[in-house]
Amino acid sequence: MAKILLNKKNLFHNLNIISEHAGSKEKVAVVLKDNAYGHGLVEIATLCAEFGIKKAVVRTLKEALHIKELFNNILILAESNFHTYSHSFHIALNSLENISNLPNNSNVHIKVDTGMHRNGICIDELEEAYTGLLKKNIKITGVFTHHRNADTLSTDFFWQNENFKEIKRRVVNICEKLSLDIPSFHSCNSSALFRHNNFNEDFARVGIATYGYLETDKTYNNPELKPVLSMWAEKMSTRELKQGQSLGYGATFTASKDMIVSTYDIGYGDGFLRLNERQSYTTPKGHKILGRVSMDNLSLDTDEKEVCIFDNVQELAKIQDTITYEITTTLSSEIKREIK
Ligand SMILES: *Cc1c(COP(=O)(O)O)cnc(C)c1O
Repeated sequence: MAKILLNKKNLFHNLNIISEHAGSKEKVAVVLKDNAYGHGLVEIATLCAEFGIKKAVVRTLKEALHIKELFNNILILAESNFHTYSHSFHIALNSLENISNLPNNSNVHIKVDTGMHRNGICIDELEEAYTGLLKKNIKITGVFTHHRNADTLSTDFFWQNENFKEIKRRVVNICEKLSLDIPSFHSCNSSALFRHNNFNEDFARVGIATYGYLETDKTYNNPELKPVLSMWAEKMSTRELKQGQSLGYGATFTASKDMIVSTYDIGYGDGFLRLNERQSYTTPKGHKILGRVSMDNLSLDTDEKEVCIFDNVQELAKIQDTITYEITTTLSSEIKREIK
C-alpha cells in the first residue's frame, strides 16, 4: 500500500527554528487546517504537542474537536455552526454579520482587514463588533489580521503592519474605555514571521514553515527548513515493455528499446496531481514517470518493490505551476500516515 512517511526529526528541526525566531514555543500557533496541509491532522498535532507547542489553528469545529486534548488554545478560522464548544476554543469573527452565529459566552478573535480584502471587519467596524460581541457575553481574546503579500518583495507587508498598528491602538482604546482585558494581537503567517527580525507580537500562526517550506522570495534570508512529508508507493505489477510498445492512457510513452516498467499504487485519485506527457518528473532516486498518471496508478522505469515518489514537493510545485501548499494539501486523507 502507498503510504506517507512523516519525518519527526525534520518536523522538530523546523519547530525549533520557528520557535527560536518567534521568541519561544508559547509564541507559536501551529496551523493544522486542511488535515495539517495534507500531512495528517492528528499525527502532526500529536507531534507538535510533544514538542511543546500549546496553540493550534484549524479551519473547522470538527478539526478542533479531533485535537482538543492536545492544545490549550485552538483558533478556529471558519466555522459557522457550533453545535458544541470548549473553553480552549477561540472563534475567528470574519464579518459583523457572523456575530449572530456565535455561541454565547464563547471566546472570539476578531479578524480585521488590513488590505487583503478577503475576510475580516474593517477598522471602522471595531466598536460595533465589540458592542455586538459583549451583548452575547463573548470574551474578545484576540484581534488579528492576515498579510496578502508577505512572501514577495513588496512594500505591502509594511503597509499592512502600519494598518494593524492603528487597529491595535483603537482596540486598546476601546478596552480602556470599557475596562476590558487587552486581547492578544497576531498578524504573521510563516513568511511574515521570517520577515521580522524582532518579532514582538503575542504569537504567529505558522503553517507552511512547520512542514518544511517557505514560498518566500529568494532575496530573503530564508531559514534552512526540512520537508516533513515523503510519499511512498508500492509496486502492483512489472512487465517488459518491448521496443515500440506504448504505455498507459493515450499511449503517450513509447519504449525506444526493450525495458522493464512497473505500475505503482498512487494516482491523481490519491491527490498526486495528474502529470502528463508534456511534463517530465523524476523521483528522488532517478526513476522517470512514464506517460500519464492515472487515477490510481503511475508507471516507472524500475521494478523496485517500494519507491519514494517525492520527499520534497518544491519540484512538483514547479512542474504543476502551483505552490507547495497545494501539492501537499490535496493528498488524500485515506493514505496511511506513518511517523518515522
Ligand atoms: C493558512 C493560514 C495561516 C498559515 O499560513 P502559512 O503561510 O502556511 O504560514 C495563517 N493565518 C491564516 C489566517 C491562515 O488562513
